[in-house]
Amino acid sequence: MALALVAGRDYPNTYREFVEMFPDNPACVSYLMRLRWPEGFICPACKTCSTPWNESRGRIACPACRHQTSITTGTIFEKTRTALTTWFEAAWHVTTAKNGMSAKTLERTLGVSYRVAWTMLQRFRVTMVNVERKPLLGEVEVDETLIGGVQQGGKRGRGVSKSVVVIAVEIKQPKGFGRVRMRHVSDASGDSLLPFIRDVVVPNAVILTDGWGGYNGLPELGYTRKATVLASSGDPAHVSMPGVHRVASLLKRWILGTHQGAIVPAHLQSYLEEFTFRFNRRTSRSRGLVFRRLLEQAVVTKPVTETDVTHGYDWHISEN
Ligand SMILES: [Zn+2]
Repeated sequence: MALALVAGRDYPNTYREFVEMFPDNPACVSYLMRLRWPEGFICPACKTCSTPWNESRGRIACPACRHQTSITTGTIFEKTRTALTTWFEAAWHVTTAKNGMSAKTLERTLGVSYRVAWTMLQRFRVTMVNVERKPLLGEVEVDETLIGGVQQGGKRGRGVSKSVVVIAVEIKQPKGFGRVRMRHVSDASGDSLLPFIRDVVVPNAVILTDGWGGYNGLPELGYTRKATVLASSGDPAHVSMPGVHRVASLLKRWILGTHQGAIVPAHLQSYLEEFTFRFNRRTSRSRGLVFRRLLEQAVVTKPVTETDVTHGYDWHISEN
């Protein structure tokens, strides 16, 4: 059994506690050490459990084999030139602000360059997908939506195309929604929709869809499909898929509001991951616990390359 986490010691509950807990880089390092090695330091080279030697510049050495490492090696913080206190502050804003923060707002708030703000956000978004590993259960609504205004070339109205996003939402009885998952797909064919469902919904679940033929292969994958076929008039998502419709409208509002619609298709999936992470924690009793959870994952998430940050992360690798 895990011991109960205590606010003010294991996670900050308020911004005041945050500032008290993380006054400098050594405080951030020791927090990450506790998250990465809760049972004590384990040498990545020889797997010996021991108290490491502290070398200069935040490096630590294994007393058994002398292997040198650092808390950031092999994590999303690897090779960063940004202070850990800045990373922690970004993590705090991303997890505690109701709608998160755009790179532009983070740039102004932290007094860092846009590039640094963007890099931190992108790496945290890769971290977020690793938190969402548990497949959806029970009754799950699935439908596609079009995300418009995604810019291509930056000119509003010109060359603007719509991107297809498929959304899955757990439906609770008697009412309400559970968790969501979403994926930017190239089209609404079965080849795009079915692998998504297979990746994010537990086998044998009940999938609620409209009458679209792209979902015809569901029974072959072991799912029970309940299709609602509507008369040709009206917006089918609105009538038959209330969960997906609700989530899609929140997503669009977030993209237009927090991010002013300025999303290129190559990065759309990373925004979907951030939205999903926040939506799935909307009832969490403490934002500070969400902050801790993000950093807990950050130290076990593999490094993200500069190419991923610049041109878009290859999400399909991480989906298994
Ligand atoms: Zn060792």
